[in-house]
Amino acid sequence: MSDTRQATLSPTQRAGSRKVFIKTYGCQMNVYDSQRMGDALAGGGYVTTEAMEEADLVLLNTCHIREKAAEKIYSELGRIRVMKAERAAAGKDLRVAVAGCVAQAEGREIIARAPVVDLVIGPQTYHRLPQALSRVEKGERVVETDYAVEDKFEHLPKAGKREIGARGVTAFLTVQEGCDKFCTFCVVPYTRGAEVSRPLAQILDEARRLADAGVREATLLGQNVNAWHGEDAGGRPIGLGGLLHALAEIPGLDRLRYTTSHPRDMDDELIAAHRDLPQLMPYLHLPVQSGSDAILKAMNRRHTGEDYLRLIERIRAARPDIALSGDFIVGFPGESEADFEATMRLVEAVGYASAFSFKYSPRPGTPGAELAGHVDEAVKSERLARLQELLRRQQLAFSESLVGQKLSVLVEKPGRRPGQIVGRSPYLQPVVMDENAGSVGDVVTVEIAGAVANSLIALGASDARSALTGGPVAA
Ligand code: SAM
Ligand code: SF4
Repeated sequence: MSDTRQATLSPTQRAGSRKVFIKTYGCQMNVYDSQRMGDALAGGGYVTTEAMEEADLVLLNTCHIREKAAEKIYSELGRIRVMKAERAAAGKDLRVAVAGCVAQAEGREIIARAPVVDLVIGPQTYHRLPQALSRVEKGERVVETDYAVEDKFEHLPKAGKREIGARGVTAFLTVQEGCDKFCTFCVVPYTRGAEVSRPLAQILDEARRLADAGVREATLLGQNVNAWHGEDAGGRPIGLGGLLHALAEIPGLDRLRYTTSHPRDMDDELIAAHRDLPQLMPYLHLPVQSGSDAILKAMNRRHTGEDYLRLIERIRAARPDIALSGDFIVGFPGESEADFEATMRLVEAVGYASAFSFKYSPRPGTPGAELAGHVDEAVKSERLARLQELLRRQQLAFSESLVGQKLSVLVEKPGRRPGQIVGRSPYLQPVVMDENAGSVGDVVTVEIAGAVANSLIALGASDARSALTGGPVAA
């Protein structure tokens, strides 16, 4: 969740005259946004490059969720400043743009702190990127962080079949943006704005284009994806469950996923979709953050630990093989040892297949940052280590429980070694297989022969074992 990713490039994006290097920080929504910014820039004559040194434009798509994520941007800008000075000495130009949530949160301050930056652009105005860059080219320093009145998605150019195809057989599709929940630790409502759902017809159109271009698995994205709401063709109100039903009818779209969900928005329609739709993969990322009711209240999550456990029971009753994933924050202000132990007990009670866990990072402007009782960093580190050890054991136990089972796997790409291919299990784990198991884009059934923490090895791919690192092989 806090990794740094390269935006996937499209052939059209490689076919212009000026070059843009896009570096993506943070969540899947930023990966999707980087691709769409690449599409918008292709219209303005830019091609994408994977080498920063050959770029005419460097664009950092940033994340503000934790302090570390935001600080990374300023260290990167320090390196870019040196590069820009070298270029200038050689009589050449380099433009620098900062997009994403740091851009939205810090706006003009970014240019004050890092004068190397020419353009600051927030997540709601990416469709205006080419125009903003023409202003930069005329010598202006541009800050575009107003929330656009027009619908960004209506104005962003649509990627063509070749561009989509080049990105692979899985794709992200943003269906919802922003958040109205105001959890006291979180910057999202301030950086991404109010909760907005894209209309059903617009989503179905994008999903059909993905399927036509060979995408087999779509992951619906939203900061609060299960708050999505819209109307069906007859004007009746529907939620995410209804949207998933509509998407399941698109030929070729064999697998559907969605992330990230809030427990309060898991309604009956959505739970029933897990029971009724074979396309909906049995894997759910449902963050709880803490197991302590006092901390959940202070976080403004508006549910208790017990509510969460009852919800998991209902979801498991609908789809018994569902694997669960979550997010946890340790060391929120006021968290006592007893509160932390309540989190450990909740984790034991649920049994996660995977999870993300973080030390609380006070974010300027959020209510949490103003609370009394900030927890010592050393205590946060010690609690995080205990929690991660428990989550690691649960993840390994889950992977090992799949050994000997037959799983359906979507073949994604060649493996790291000759003779291997790699695909995704229904539970989002990479599966290493023998190349004869199928071709890219096929959904194949393979028997699992071994497991490490988050990778599986299929029967017939025994050489694959040596390619896997990070722990003992269970077989
Ligand atoms: N909407 C999702 C939800 O309600 O759980 C979460 C989206 S947030 C972008 C991703 C994760 O980052 C959160 O679930 C939380 O665990 C973590 N996070 C957010 N703010 C944080 C902070 N101030 N310090 C540490 N972790 C944080
Ligand atoms: Fe942030 Fe998620 Fe809470 Fe919204 S629901 S404020 S995105 S943690």
